[in-house]
Amino acid sequence: MYQTLAIGPFTETEQEALRAEFGATFMATPAGLSELDESARGAVRAVAYKGGKSFGAAEMDLLPNLGVVSNFGVGYDAIDVSAATKRAIKVTNTPDVLNDDVADLAVAMMLMQGREMLQASAWAHSGQWANTGEYRLNRKVSGGTVGIVGLGRIGREIANRLAAFKMNIHYYSRQEKETPGWEWHADPVSLAHAVDYLVIALVGGKETENFVSREVIDALGPRGVVVNISRGTTVDEEALLQALETGRIAGAGLDVFRNEPKIDPRFYALPNVVIQPHQGSGTVETRAAMAALQRRNITAFLAGNALETPVN
Ligand code: NAP
Repeated sequence: MYQTLAIGPFTETEQEALRAEFGATFMATPAGLSELDESARGAVRAVAYKGGKSFGAAEMDLLPNLGVVSNFGVGYDAIDVSAATKRAIKVTNTPDVLNDDVADLAVAMMLMQGREMLQASAWAHSGQWANTGEYRLNRKVSGGTVGIVGLGRIGREIANRLAAFKMNIHYYSRQEKETPGWEWHADPVSLAHAVDYLVIALVGGKETENFVSREVIDALGPRGVVVNISRGTTVDEEALLQALETGRIAGAGLDVFRNEPKIDPRFYALPNVVIQPHQGSGTVETRAAMAALQRRNITAFLAGNALETPVN
């Protein structure tokens, strides 16, 4: 009898649903695959996947009857899709259902940076408001100029929100898109030159590694704020740290990092960085919608129906 195997840090609620719908078995990381005996590995037809550990050719080859890897998340850079395609394994993801939450967090980090909300809150908490008077003036966000790097599903939601903040919207994408008067830039350096806030909403993976390079960061200038909700890999993190440490840019709001969750400790020392623990889609409502879409893709695959959100 074929099995569904769930790999990754699934919550209790997610586990219950996977157990109820598919009788799934669980494994914390793909490293556990090599501990299964041959018949258990041969029985696996569907993998429900979650988390950033890599799932590539070696893992797939341990599961000779694997037909689908249903990823929890829109970003599937942990899964080697070309290795899957070569083996006729389908990969699915969970697009769209998380756009709102991720866009909300990007906007929130911009506001936190501009209005110095972290510093102002610390000021009030410490009693300085009562003891020494008003907090210093900070920086207007509405009406400013923002650049979105990657006007995909999430990038567009961010731009729509910022348009309501009366911001001038600029964006980079590989081709110009139909937009309500937003300004397209064919390269990210030109985009960074034109704006004060640079919001990164690219896909992760090898193709976009260090896309926001030292040159892009320097083009942003000393009033510049970098907001990243994509993947840590899309930014040259060393260049970003140096720019933040030396005041070559004003600040950053970051939900994603290299080496999460053990991020570079230099970030902890920087007062001009808002650190979020990769929680862009981390609401009860959205995680439930992502989990449900992940399961619907498995159900469709096992029934031989069209997949709802296929990647390959
Ligand atoms: P999407 O609709 O596929 O948009 C991706 C964007 O990346 C598009 O604008 C696309 O450019 C661009 N892109 C793709 N390949 C590129 C390349 N080789 N060079 C330059 N640009 C490239 O994806 P989405 O649903 O908006 O999600 C974007 C990413 O956000 C995900 O992949 C994931 O990594 C991340 N994410 C993070 C969180 C979080 O919790 N922080 C949650 C969800 C997603 P074109 O417009 O030119 O096609």
